[in-house]
Amino acid sequence: SSGYTLLRDPRHNKGLAFTENERDAHYLRGLLPPAILTQELQERKLMHNLRQYEVPLQRYMAMMDLQERNERLFYKLLIDNVEELLPVVYTPTVGEACQKYGSIFRRPQGLYISLKEKGKILEVLKNWPERNIQVIVVTDGERILGLGDLGCQGMGIPVGKLSLYTALGGLRPSACLPVTIDVGTNNDRLLNNEFYIGLRRRRATGQEYAELLDEFMTAVKKNYGETGPCTDFANHNAFELLAKYKPTHLVFNDDIQGTASVVLAGLLAALKLVGGTLADHTFLFLGAGEAGTGIAELIALEISKQTNAPLEETRKNIWLVDSKGLIVSSRKGSLQHFKKPWAHDHEPIKGLLDAVKAIKPTVLIGSSGVGKTFTKEVVEAMASLNEKPIILALSNPTTQSECTAEEAYTWSEGRAIFASGSPFDPVEYNSKVYVPGQANNAYIFPGFGLGLIISGAIRVHDDMLLAASETLAEQISAKIAAKVAAKAYELGLASRLPRPKDLVKYAESCMYSPLYRSYR
Ligand code: NAP
Repeated sequence: SSGYTLLRDPRHNKGLAFTENERDAHYLRGLLPPAILTQELQERKLMHNLRQYEVPLQRYMAMMDLQERNERLFYKLLIDNVEELLPVVYTPTVGEACQKYGSIFRRPQGLYISLKEKGKILEVLKNWPERNIQVIVVTDGERILGLGDLGCQGMGIPVGKLSLYTALGGLRPSACLPVTIDVGTNNDRLLNNEFYIGLRRRRATGQEYAELLDEFMTAVKKNYGETGPCTDFANHNAFELLAKYKPTHLVFNDDIQGTASVVLAGLLAALKLVGGTLADHTFLFLGAGEAGTGIAELIALEISKQTNAPLEETRKNIWLVDSKGLIVSSRKGSLQHFKKPWAHDHEPIKGLLDAVKAIKPTVLIGSSGVGKTFTKEVVEAMASLNEKPIILALSNPTTQSECTAEEAYTWSEGRAIFASGSPFDPVEYNSKVYVPGQANNAYIFPGFGLGLIISGAIRVHDDMLLAASETLAEQISAKIAAKVAAKAYELGLASRLPRPKDLVKYAESCMYSPLYRSYR
């Protein structure tokens, strides 16, 4: 192909990094200025440029431009600067990008399947240029990162998530397929916006919705083989979808299962600071939706594995509050089915503060999507009940966080073990610096997807999520330990010589394992 085409093919373009030989061989002479840059230099230049933008959305747009221009450079940047760029290509900035997707739209990314394509979805799949697909992330845009119904503009989510599957999980970009199923939107602002890119109609529901999704899932199998690629549903109503397709497809839902896994990992790591096992703790959730009940179930499952107690028993130390108050058995009749396992015997309680006082939780988890709900009184109550209260404010974006890191630390007099869904800066309190943890799915799903793929898994099992959590919990410590030790060696402050070659492995080998040993 011509050099001109090569420069416009993001998968192969290297920009000024094409060498003299490559410029000769691929008809690039004259199409590029004479300078030859290394990828490192290109990277440095781009990071410099990105940092000039003060508005996060501009950084997002610059990153999308780069992805469409020079894919390898995009991933090099993302991998080398994960901490700085993850909030740009993923939450929280991707949320804002979705809200404005119609206005910033330049080139289509991913595959759009709307009600117009009904009856033709298999043909639509064949329009996608890549054959070997390993992961599909699919959304219907109904509920995006706590931002509500964004209809067709939800496409930013599968695109952003898949870039993390590649950057963090090592999947080839060409093996990733972002899909948006457009069945309309109930968002009037979008319906009235002249730049809206989706179907201009209200959401199809019930049978009409189910049929389109079913056609899609069947077409995926037909097109890509018996189990199909690993499919991550970024959808509302995912409980139903998971239950329906779990027996026949390799499906999971990152909002339910990924969140559960990362939070469980956080709890396992927190236990190292607080002591005891999961079974010693009492959990109270604010929010009993996908995130809340998903986490609750995985905690119950892990306790049940650790103690051999039946699941129904282990659920009893886990309580949830929804918009109507504490979920109790006297409400059972009117409860959604996924809440029923959590309806324990107790008198009804309306407010969170009263629930904290009555249940006396050691762990408080916010998963309601409503900000500022962990008030001073709530945090103080947690701090009066516990020496080291564990407080997780999971709701995104930052504005919806149940409390800030600063509030958690100051109101608990520095005793809270705190983590949040959206990142907070370290907090100085009483001349000590507290570094909040971050509970973000992005720590789990890339490795999780990779694990499914390299093993050729045919179904997703909850034990795989538990395995992911356990690994992440170890990783945090081992990786931090390795970095700290590396610095100690670098500074000449280490005394254990010679320096172990693989510090992470070495750190892991040094960690305590509570498993019984076999005495022979
Ligand atoms: P969801 O399915 O809509 O569930 C929300 C739950 O919160 C429902 O049970 C709802 O009660 C309850 N709720 C709403 N307002 C409330 C209030 N004022 N007081 C008490 N309860 C209230 O949403 P979701 O998918 O679980 O997500 C919830 C939040 O978690 C979102 O902000 C999302 O960003 C966050 N999240 C974070 C992560 C992470 O990695 N950090 C991952 C996933 C989700 P009803 O059932 O009575 O309506």
